[in-house]
Amino acid sequence: MTAQPIDGNALAAKLRAHMATEVAALAAQGHTPGLTVLLVGEDPASQVYVRNKVKACEAIGMASRLERHPADMSEAALLARIQELNADPSVHGILVQLPLPKHLNADLVIETIAPEKDVDGFHIASAGALMVGQPGFKPCTPYGCMKMLEDIGCNPRGKHAVVIGRSNIVGKPMALLLLQASATVTICHSATPNLAELARQADILVAAVGRPRFVTADMVKPGAVVLDVGINRLPDGKLCGDVDFDAVKDVAGWITPVPGGVGPMTITMLLQNTLEAAQRRAST
Ligand code: NAD
Repeated sequence: MTAQPIDGNALAAKLRAHMATEVAALAAQGHTPGLTVLLVGEDPASQVYVRNKVKACEAIGMASRLERHPADMSEAALLARIQELNADPSVHGILVQLPLPKHLNADLVIETIAPEKDVDGFHIASAGALMVGQPGFKPCTPYGCMKMLEDIGCNPRGKHAVVIGRSNIVGKPMALLLLQASATVTICHSATPNLAELARQADILVAAVGRPRFVTADMVKPGAVVLDVGINRLPDGKLCGDVDFDAVKDVAGWITPVPGGVGPMTITMLLQNTLEAAQRRAST
């Protein structure tokens, strides 16, 4: 079998075009969705990420603002700035780019963002809402994975989903979203002894490990949907996922490439969360 590729760029473009019409409708009512991105310090990778996020907002008509702050910004000053943004009605979403310089407490910083503006979905209130199935903001990467499943017509209900990785931003929320969609979910991690055996049982296999080509063809059930969240930089500078794409594509039914798979969906869902934040505000 040769798996069908799941084209994250194409799906992202389709969703962003649809969002642009909704943004225009909100703007016409005086509620242009606005995202403020805070970057503290000069981490080169973070600079690229924040620029991409701001550009993506602008491309669909959202108001986006990038605030750069020096690496030695005090925690008190950062928290005070977030409080100001919490109170600013033109700002619907606030994103603090991680990682933060070491002297700043990232947990405290994230908890200072008003939950109704937490478009990254990292606030404890967002995690709690996801846990109990109440409306909140879903973390963008797992949210994007769910959109991909929807787009290929894969309903998780009754399926066995195996998630490899248990981070707060990918693995755990991914498992909760799949559970909410009535999949039977197994979470594997670094202390799971029979990981390959469990992975082979998956109808839906999500890899969020951070190890190049961790998932090999013998770990995949024929016909499975394989979502590769991993982004790893190889010594030659090329990007590679957590799945051995060339081998696994001959076993899986569907597979996301890296790059061009889950990656473009993450920013797309950040836009979706910002749009939802503005829609909620407009309806109050
Ligand atoms: P993380 O390091 O926080 O978590 C990795 C998880 O993998 C951990 O829970 C750990 O238990 C598990 N793990 C590590 N080694 C393992 C092993 N040998 N066997 C089984 N499990 C093992 O990473 P993260 O933030 O969840 O990110 C995972 C990957 O996804 C990274 O490559 C990251 O760059 C990528 N990522 C991509 C996007 C995107 O937009 N596509 C977004 C976030 C993260």
